[in-house]
Amino acid sequence: MKLLPKNKLVPIISSWAQRYTVLAPSSTEQGECVFDIFKEETFTLEYRKPSLPPKSQLLPQSDVIFRVEKGTFREVLPERNVLMFGIRSCDLMGLRQSSSFMSRDTQDIYYRRRSDHCLKVVMACAGPQNETCFCTTSRSGPSATTGFDLQFYDLGDSFLVESGSTEGDELLKAGNLADVDDKDTVEQVNALRNKAVAAITEVPDVTRAMEILSSRGASEELWERFGDKCIVCGGCVYVCPTCTCFTVADFPSGPDTGERIRSWDTCLYGGFTKEASGHNPRSTQGLRLKRRHEHKLLYYNQTDVQEALCGCVGCGRCSDYCPVHIGTLEVVKAIVEEQS
Ligand code: SF4
Ligand code: SF4
Repeated sequence: MKLLPKNKLVPIISSWAQRYTVLAPSSTEQGECVFDIFKEETFTLEYRKPSLPPKSQLLPQSDVIFRVEKGTFREVLPERNVLMFGIRSCDLMGLRQSSSFMSRDTQDIYYRRRSDHCLKVVMACAGPQNETCFCTTSRSGPSATTGFDLQFYDLGDSFLVESGSTEGDELLKAGNLADVDDKDTVEQVNALRNKAVAAITEVPDVTRAMEILSSRGASEELWERFGDKCIVCGGCVYVCPTCTCFTVADFPSGPDTGERIRSWDTCLYGGFTKEASGHNPRSTQGLRLKRRHEHKLLYYNQTDVQEALCGCVGCGRCSDYCPVHIGTLEVVKAIVEEQS
């Protein structure tokens, strides 16, 4: 562990920025916080979870994967080395789950080239970011146990910094920082972790909902009720750190010139599961919502889940952003209430 006085934070990030594209919490002119390329003028530590999780850096919303120029094929492979500063532990777990999925059976080279060249610096949460956080239930936070290069704990006027990799050790060499590995420091970190866990009091009964889904299931009426409300905007999927559906389309721009682009898609769109015959096995919005939530809570792959509880990491974004309140929190609550 190292002790980093807060007045040394910007200089150390600036030194990292000479070797990496550093993405850090930044204030916009509208007063929002987004993860953007580090600039001293816009960098901020006053931030909550941003609307988009860091998956958007590894699986961009729209990504050119190859170009054909005058009949010549040219693959477009991402090149940059990225350092994500200040991500939250739920989002780190989201990256771990997505990375496992994207390399488990088939190597997705576009994703892998980004994730292999990406360092993750976690800012441990001191408590919930807002009322929709349930990382303690999902076993993804409020601090990370593994998978990070560095993890920061806020002590007020300084940070305790924990390294989780050799790359993390290298990053810390830039700062000439004091070692603090004594018993008091370990106890201090444990106390901070425990205090953060205790501060997350509104926890949904995800385990009970998972039990119900794996035994008798939720009623079709429940899914159709949600389906009737859903306006099919796709927002819940796009803000979710563990959703990875995409589509691929070719865009010709001339007789022998064009691009192949992949972009985000969602199992909540009617066309996603429609077969060439015209048959759609998920023919109603209720069935599509059922599929999405069962994928998170029932039909996840145990390897991809890592040490979390299921395929949902409890970030709460779907509840934050769904305009008609069909987030995982609301769905879990409805499943449990229906059976009680
Ligand atoms: S399903 Fe909702 S709460 Fe769970 S990880 Fe996705 S956006 Fe976050
Ligand atoms: S955010 Fe809400 S309304 Fe939009 S697709 Fe998801 S469940 Fe439907």
